[in-house]
Amino acid sequence: MAALPSDPRLVIFDLDGVVYRGTQPIAGAVDLIEAVHAAGALVRYATNNSMHTREEYVERLRRMGIRAAADEIVTSTSATVDHLRSHCPDVRTVLTLGAPGMLAEFRAAGYEATSAAEAGPQDWNGADLPQPFDAVVAGLDPRVDYRRLGIAASAIRAGARFFATNADVQYPTPDGVVPGAGAIIAALAATSGVEPLVIGKPQPAMFAGILEQTACAASASIIIGDNPDADLVAANRAGIASVLVLTGVTDAEAAAALDGERRATAVANDPAQAAALLGLALS
Ligand SMILES: [Mg+2]
Repeated sequence: MAALPSDPRLVIFDLDGVVYRGTQPIAGAVDLIEAVHAAGALVRYATNNSMHTREEYVERLRRMGIRAAADEIVTSTSATVDHLRSHCPDVRTVLTLGAPGMLAEFRAAGYEATSAAEAGPQDWNGADLPQPFDAVVAGLDPRVDYRRLGIAASAIRAGARFFATNADVQYPTPDGVVPGAGAIIAALAATSGVEPLVIGKPQPAMFAGILEQTACAASASIIIGDNPDADLVAANRAGIASVLVLTGVTDAEAAAALDGERRATAVANDPAQAAALLGLALS
């Protein structure tokens, strides 16, 4: 396991459970972020959520007193855009199965993007689509229906490369658990017989992309997360040291029982303790 770098160049924050819970900032998180900036390190915020644009996260953070730039935000959708740009330059036409924010990100990035809702005839009945797509990108579509699933699976069967923004099977909401992107992707994989390349955590592609974009070495970077199954597994797979903060989905008892890919380099009760681990002075 990597040691915590003493003078990190890059600190990647998970959002929910690390910076905020719902609409409430976590006590001390704003100070920790300020201290990272003051130390001259780059900050990135990495979320598996595919449904909102980076600008929407800038606004959400601004309301909590955190000044962030759009290029500091990495969603599983923006990471998928970055992956396609860097590794799949032949992809131009994209069929998206996701929320409107996903479609907006792909169009803003210059892709010829069509949502599954608007692709194909409205009375689609299983026939081949009139036009092929270079890629299908699937995430969480809260309006998913039988037709959209069929259209996306048909495009994959016709030869489109299949990417998933993330594979979280469950999506927790304040009122309970609803199907996550992984549940939708499982349906597409079962129907098409093709497994997707998954970009979001726990796969390492999102963090690997951030290292590429920032030109920071893994050995000079730190990930701060609350979810061992997502943040810590992805950190370990990307070879980046991690701090598990106990302000989200993991308590001290669960943290003590973690092993293998789910272990953090260090554990902090809260942002203030994380700052101390990073050798940062809080103002
Ligand atoms: Mg989290």
